[in-house]
Amino acid sequence: MPRSGPVYWLAEAMAAEEPLACPPLTGTETADVCIVGGGYTGLWTALEIRRLAPDAKVTLLESGACGFGASGRNGGWATSWYDELDRLVERFGEQQGLWLADQSSASVARIGQFAEQEGFDCHFRPEGSLWLSTSAQQDEVIAAPLRECRRLGRGELVEQVGRDAAIERSGAAVARSAVLLRDSAAVQPALLARGLRRAAMRAGVRIHEGSRVLRIERTRPAAVATSSGRVEAGQLVLAMNAWAAQIRELRRAIFVVGTQMVITEPVEARRVPSAFGAGMLVGDARMFVHYSQMTRDGRLVFGRGGGAIGSAGRVVPKHFIDQRTADVVARDLCEWFPELAGSTLTHAWGGAVDRAPGHLPFAGSLGDHENVHYAVGYSGNGVAPSVLLGRILARRALGITDALSRCALVSGPPAYMPPEPLRFPAAVAVRSIVNRAERREERGQRAGLAGRAGRRLAGFATPPVRSVVSRLLGRSGAPHGP
Ligand SMILES: Cc1cc2nc3c(=O)[nH]c(=O)nc-3n(C[C@H](O)[C@H](O)[C@H](O)COP(=O)(O)OP(=O)(O)OC[C@H]3O[C@@H](n4cnc5c(N)ncnc54)[C@H](O)[C@@H]3O)c2cc1C
Repeated sequence: MPRSGPVYWLAEAMAAEEPLACPPLTGTETADVCIVGGGYTGLWTALEIRRLAPDAKVTLLESGACGFGASGRNGGWATSWYDELDRLVERFGEQQGLWLADQSSASVARIGQFAEQEGFDCHFRPEGSLWLSTSAQQDEVIAAPLRECRRLGRGELVEQVGRDAAIERSGAAVARSAVLLRDSAAVQPALLARGLRRAAMRAGVRIHEGSRVLRIERTRPAAVATSSGRVEAGQLVLAMNAWAAQIRELRRAIFVVGTQMVITEPVEARRVPSAFGAGMLVGDARMFVHYSQMTRDGRLVFGRGGGAIGSAGRVVPKHFIDQRTADVVARDLCEWFPELAGSTLTHAWGGAVDRAPGHLPFAGSLGDHENVHYAVGYSGNGVAPSVLLGRILARRALGITDALSRCALVSGPPAYMPPEPLRFPAAVAVRSIVNRAERREERGQRAGLAGRAGRRLAGFATPPVRSVVSRLLGRSGAPHGP
């Protein structure tokens, strides 16, 4: 087992890259829009602003290098929200829920189209994702959205797969049954992030890397300050992912948790089912989800959620290097793919996830500051949704009102987690209870009372005061959507 550390994807992407410097910010700059964060969200937002308003002056500040946050180190699953269509409909109603799922699906396709149009290769392979059930509890988790897709006319995008076929197509010995989501695609995440960076530079976005924002001035115009410079901008967009939990207004809106991955050396093609080898994604329906893909050169990438928890919303070193969780991931890989169990693992790494109540990203303005926008809360599914959130943020920054800028995700935090010092110890306890329950269920045992309670507590959050008040007054909130 390698020491947890360097990110395979980033190493591959940087080795292939022609250096194009984005020097740190110095002195004072002005811009129409200043974006903080150079991951997918910030870069898609910048690109969309320049597309909609070619004269807009856009500055993007990134504390490290673009793509070195979650965007360059994820599992490379570009997936839509059809796998949670039942929950989308329950939360937002049939029309808006389906519209959001359709938009997320179009976002997957957009990645492939954009990379082709811009001439960069991010190993986009639209081979679908095989979403496994590995316990009786997960059977219903995968069945509910399948039923909803069929009911709402999206049946052609999903296929029910029985146990034998699921094992045959994926090689995953743990499968009980599966749903194939046809609109998913595998990507090499760091090549995507660095490709977006190059495209944004070409589109005229001024990018400053090595420029950590230390202060946000909630003024008009707004301003941000780094250790060596300052940007004043009419509109500010915060695309900071897990780091946004340090912003006062968002501190209790997201929860920072780690997820870890490992990758093998290239394995012989004959040892891998052909669909999986061609880029079909394979994962499960746990709360602490497993996710995998085969790289184009035949390495198995395997990851698992439920890693280190950051107290008080902090991103901590353990999110990136967590040997104990990486060892668990390696153990799980052997259980899933016994055929590949002897393969050498060359890299292990992790990253921080911005988990939100309800598991969907949300956008809004920071408090009453309508010129300071943010999007956060991807909850481990942001590769394709960040395309959508980038379109939403661009419209908000440009003052464009349409179905995107008014959609149900533009609602601010849907709920708040308990405050510290309660949250951290409670989260650690709940994580270990749910972990144990999911292991038991995979062995065919019951989760037990504690497991069921833990699962419920994991989703515990309190709704914002405004939504309680409008419910008491019988108001349904602003209309949204198409
Ligand atoms: C290990 C891992 C596996 C994942 N797997 C998947 C997957 O397979 N599929 C999927 O859909 N999603 C996955 N995700 C989630 C997905 O990667 C994210 O939702 C997505 O990348 C979010 O993009 P972002 O731009 O919002 O965040 P990031 O890429 O994290 O970008 C935020 C950027 O903001 C910068 N920043 C923060 N604070 C400041 C500051 N003060 N000043 C300047 N810059 C700042 C950071 O340096 C960072 O580069 C995974 C995440 C992780 C960590």
